Amino acid sequence: MKTKYKTIAIDGPAGSGKSTIANELAKRHGYLYLDTGVMYRAVTWAVLENNIPVVDEDAVTVVAQEISLKILAPTVDDGREYTVMVADADVTWLIRQENVNANVALVSSYRQVRYFLTEKQRQIAHGIPIIMVGRDIGTVVLPDADLKIFLEASPEVRAERRYKQNIKHGKSITFEESLAGIIERDKQDREKQIGAMIQAEDAVIIDTNDLTIEEVLTKIDRL
Ligand code: C5P
Repeated sequence: MKTKYKTIAIDGPAGSGKSTIANELAKRHGYLYLDTGVMYRAVTWAVLENNIPVVDEDAVTVVAQEISLKILAPTVDDGREYTVMVADADVTWLIRQENVNANVALVSSYRQVRYFLTEKQRQIAHGIPIIMVGRDIGTVVLPDADLKIFLEASPEVRAERRYKQNIKHGKSITFEESLAGIIERDKQDREKQIGAMIQAEDAVIIDTNDLTIEEVLTKIDRL
């Protein structure tokens, strides 16, 4: 694939394979890769770390506005796709913890939080070939993206993927817990008043239920 597209938006629910696919595509074709979920997670982590009540919208917004966040190439060879730094703290794995999972939907539902993070995302995308991943990239962040993809898979298939990922990283979790987590996050992400996950009308929908990562990559290459 030639770098014909400058901006590629990949949206989809938790566990649909967005980050794995985008990371690999970016490596193969020389794009920058940005997983915007990381930004909402990092803000949530900083809020919890500083004992700020998650329900205090104004205080949470200040964190989103002022956060010193860096997403770098991996600095440690431990299976990470990138290193996430908040000020001097390496939070790459901390932002994947249960307390962040449980609060990120609320944090990302605040209008001003979305405003500040969307601005940062657009600045990063300015003038460079980028694959950006999230829930609202094709609809809100980059509505003029050259290619929009929406990845789908059933909750069971996504829960199975998350379950295997967690086991690989030494987290003890059952498949049932993983499925319950996926179902709850789907509900929150679809029902959010602001920043809800919606398929862009011009997105290409790829159902990944019965596809391997390589097969999804081949489909996208053909586009
Ligand atoms: O993609 P990931 O599951 O890491 O995202 C964590 C959460 O951040 C999502 O469940 C969603 O609530 C929020 N998010 C968002 N908009 C984005 C990316 C993520 O609201 N563009």
